[in-house]
Amino acid sequence: MKANDDFYTLRDQDLMLTADEMEAGQREFPATHVTNEGVSYPSFPDALRRVAQADPPNKCVSCRKPGYYYPADKPYAPGHCYSEQGRLEFTRISSCCEFCFDYMFREPEEEEPMDDSHARLEDAYNYEQEARAQDGSD
Ligand SMILES: [Zn+2]
Repeated sequence: MKANDDFYTLRDQDLMLTADEMEAGQREFPATHVTNEGVSYPSFPDALRRVAQADPPNKCVSCRKPGYYYPADKPYAPGHCYSEQGRLEFTRISSCCEFCFDYMFREPEEEEPMDDSHARLEDAYNYEQEARAQDGSD
């Protein structure tokens, strides 16, 4: 299955079904997160079910699933925010979950010429340096 198809499948299906598919071994999901204090999160599929049941009002503007935070290496399901930065982005700024955000800004399938992307990176860097220099001028 192509990644694109999978995105839309997950987006349009119920989180309960996604949780079932994960436990049935049909989809990958992150290892159960344990905090530095040794507190275990519920398993990821269980966390999905709790979110679906609680149905919190803050929905992602893209997938319309409730946003939730579960530390992981990448987003695994719609509404999933896996990093502290993504969680803050969702709650304070965009209301776009990292599952959708990462999909929208995924690596393009066709690689751009190296020279071009390198030049743009340098532009961004120079711009940042200038902005910093101006900040410090007052
Ligand atoms: Zn979303």
